[in-house]
Amino acid sequence: LATRDELTGVYNRRHFLVLTEREWARCRRYEMGAAMLMIDVDRFKDVNEQHGHLAGDLMLREIARAATETLRQPDLCGRFGGEEFIVFLPHADPLGAIDAAERIRDCVARLVLEWRGAAVRTTVSVGVAALDAAHESLGALIQDADQALHAAKEAGRNCVRTLPPQPRRSGEVRPVELR
Ligand code: GH3
Ligand code: MG
Ligand code: MG
Repeated sequence: LATRDELTGVYNRRHFLVLTEREWARCRRYEMGAAMLMIDVDRFKDVNEQHGHLAGDLMLREIARAATETLRQPDLCGRFGGEEFIVFLPHADPLGAIDAAERIRDCVARLVLEWRGAAVRTTVSVGVAALDAAHESLGALIQDADQALHAAKEAGRNCVRTLPPQPRRSGEVRPVELR
């Protein structure tokens, strides 16, 4: 059964979710930190339009490589959609997650793809969501990462954003303790 995305070599969406569902449940059960990063290539349509779809494909491959090279062994990286990647960081605390996101962002911003005499560059925006007790499903955590990604786009792209602490009804939830 295919577990990898053919173009980029990272997990495909389905398999990423299978693996992450397992890890996520463990992190919640043992009240360990964890975080989700949602990564979207900035103005990727322009890359395709200016250099062609093949150049775009190669760029996606390089971005996946940049992301996986900055990650650590237990981290999971998947292709979530066309030019969107997703990363699950088990045991990460919020600052560590922002750090990891920033490393990926920086790595991509330095990438130069040599393509038919042109130097192709691009950037990514990253949304970070740290697991807390209010995330009662994996979907809720992904949704927060996606919302943070939108904030990164709105802030001008090529940046990392996380959500401000969410208002909670008192007594309803408490933060997951971080080790
Ligand atoms: P932004 O996210 O910064 O708002 O702008 P964008 O241009 O990246 O946004 P949009 O979502 O409109 O465009 C995504 C583009 O990604 C359009 C689509 O053709 C391209 N794309 C998606 N999957 C692939 C792929 O596998 N290969 C190539 N070359 N392009 C792809
Ligand atoms: Mg997109
Ligand atoms: Mg995009």
